[in-house]
Amino acid sequence: MQSTNFRFSALEKILERKPVPVQCPSEKISDYYGQNVFDRETMRRILSSDIYDSLMLAIEKGNKIETHVADAVASAMKSWAITRGVTHYTHWFQPLTGATAEKHDSFFEPDNAGRHMEKFKGSALVQQEPDASSFPSGGLRNTFEARGYTAWDPTSPAFIMENGSAKTLCIPTVFVSYTGEALDYKAPLLKSLAFVDKAATDVCASYFDEGVTHVKASLGVEQEYFLIDRALFRARPDLVLCGRTVFGHAPAKGQQLEDHYFGSIPTRVHNFMIDLEVEAHKLGIPIRTRHNEVAPRQFECAPMFEEVNLAIDHNQLLMDIMEKVGEKHNLKVLLHEKPFAGVNGSGKHNNWSLITSNGKNLLAPGSNAQENLQFITFFINTIKAVYEYNGLLRASIASAGNDHRLGANEAPPAIVSVFVGSQLSKLLDDLENNATIDLEKGDNMYMKLGINKIPPILLDNTDRNRTSPFAFTGNKFEFRAVGSSANSASAMTVLNAIVANQLVAFKQEVDKLINDGEKKEMAIVNVLRRYVKESKKIRFEGNGYSEEWKAEAEKRGLSNITNTPEALDEYLSEKSMKLFVDNDIFTEAELEARLEIMWEHYIMKVQIESRIMGDLALNHIIPATLRYQNELISALKDMKDLGLDYENTVGFETVKEITRHLNVVKTKVHEMIESRKKANKIEDNRERAVEYKNIRESFFEEIRYHVDKLEFLVDDTAWPLAKYRELLF
Ligand code: ADP
Ligand code: MG
Repeated sequence: MQSTNFRFSALEKILERKPVPVQCPSEKISDYYGQNVFDRETMRRILSSDIYDSLMLAIEKGNKIETHVADAVASAMKSWAITRGVTHYTHWFQPLTGATAEKHDSFFEPDNAGRHMEKFKGSALVQQEPDASSFPSGGLRNTFEARGYTAWDPTSPAFIMENGSAKTLCIPTVFVSYTGEALDYKAPLLKSLAFVDKAATDVCASYFDEGVTHVKASLGVEQEYFLIDRALFRARPDLVLCGRTVFGHAPAKGQQLEDHYFGSIPTRVHNFMIDLEVEAHKLGIPIRTRHNEVAPRQFECAPMFEEVNLAIDHNQLLMDIMEKVGEKHNLKVLLHEKPFAGVNGSGKHNNWSLITSNGKNLLAPGSNAQENLQFITFFINTIKAVYEYNGLLRASIASAGNDHRLGANEAPPAIVSVFVGSQLSKLLDDLENNATIDLEKGDNMYMKLGINKIPPILLDNTDRNRTSPFAFTGNKFEFRAVGSSANSASAMTVLNAIVANQLVAFKQEVDKLINDGEKKEMAIVNVLRRYVKESKKIRFEGNGYSEEWKAEAEKRGLSNITNTPEALDEYLSEKSMKLFVDNDIFTEAELEARLEIMWEHYIMKVQIESRIMGDLALNHIIPATLRYQNELISALKDMKDLGLDYENTVGFETVKEITRHLNVVKTKVHEMIESRKKANKIEDNRERAVEYKNIRESFFEEIRYHVDKLEFLVDDTAWPLAKYRELLF
């Protein structure tokens, strides 16, 4: 009874694979860079100057967009798009499911007189009412108002999405309910950006540089991913349905040789990357690096940093085009945080900094003492914010996928700590210990604290610790614990908000000291000195992946929650609520609705994983193993019939061993199904999520352990699932 084995047909298929050739539109990237973007350059060219100026005021200062301006922009956008073969337009938004959403409308509309014409009014540009009842709202739209709408975000330029010959004009928008509650990632992100802009500008303008009119947060997202052949992907139902392999024995060769890192990139992958770059560049996404990551078949791409909102739109877009370009090259992009056990997971490193209207990076050490005081002000306030809200930052990156990567069996842990490098550690220590500065006596504060000169060598010295979840890397902080499939907005909203909140508190404290007669510089230093002491526990320079660190972090009282449902609780703590509500990032109702959505999302993910585990075990593993076992048994019977000693044979031992593992697999799968049934009866979303977490913890590993043992025992040619060595090498 030999069934078709997808594993072997897939393996045959990849032998025949040839690299798919790529064609760049031109040798010079600048010839096509941004050709599909309705960017400032294009707008300046085709809009009248007063329309252009009012739009820029709306973008830079948040001024209201008048109807006639919206109409003019819409009309120009439409003509620009139509000449490029665009037939449809869509409001493009980021609902809380993590992906992006679109609803396509045609420009083409019959008018009253029965004539047909291409239409696109300002009102259609500015606002749309998507039929969005299928997007999660955590009950918000039920409680408040049944409908939601999308509203134009003019700070992120419209772009043309190509899909084969179909071209669609995409307009980045926020998605809100009729009563104004955010139903997406972008709306709160924009609020957090405004908050950090104001708070940082206040600090800069009051103490360091009167000329600073705004401060923008910048972000560069390094995106890690795995690439595997599409045929092999199709041969693994677990990859297809949940993005990760629920079974699979570790291959004889793993990543121990680290020969993949920066190794030569195979031609098929290389062509994929070139194609990806071309498509990204057409959309104005400034991708610039490519190299292999540590794990086999793992890669990374990183665009040049941009303003946070744009960087996140671009990252969301990039994930989309990766998938499409992958299809063309018969490759499947895996964005899951942990597709393979025992192999490094994937993250999305969020490089974050603050840049003033004068172009000064507030997290870059300066060329003089005054600038360095500004640098340590922002540097220390960020560390303090991360310390105060480390649990919330942890919550901001919580997801079912990231749970497999953070705090699971393998490193990294789910602890947020900050790495600053030895030089800056010393600087912070000096600041903490050098309490006796007397400016009246002519003490040089800058010299005494070691901030008169911070050597530029810092840049080379700081990026050595790759095990830190939140590392200072020369002129930016790099938040590395963000999951590879996540929308970075969740983490960035929290980071912007906590730093802004911290800067507001800092300014109040410094102002008070100044009012009490303290010199400005000393007031700043004194407050910072206290912050260094107070936030010391978050700093960790050692190996973040070690067991010792887990124990040490516990002593320090740092949050180390290894699962999503419990990590998310931090969003609803009094402290977090106050932060969000007082600063207009989220209302209480919005926060509660979000949590409902996140719990539900988590439940669905774990439920799918659990089901696929059960299905694979019952429909693939057990039947294939039994077939093999029966072969062994009939051979043993033959031996017995011949009067041979069948009991002292490998075959006999194997049959017994197989039985042992099969029994556990079968029993555990059935217990797991029963537990799911029980869990599904729980009404409360959080409680149900916690129960699903328990199911994951009680069954996944054990079932996997026995299935992976069977993979080792069963004849290779009879095993139904593509093996790790085939998927990864
Ligand atoms: P690594 O892999 O060593 O972490 P990369 O050079 O690959 O470093 O990536 C660094 C990322 O950080 C890039 O996306 C880059 O644009 C971004 N970046 C550099 N400077 C800043 C900054 N000041 N603010 C935000 N992001 C930055
Ligand atoms: Mg990095």
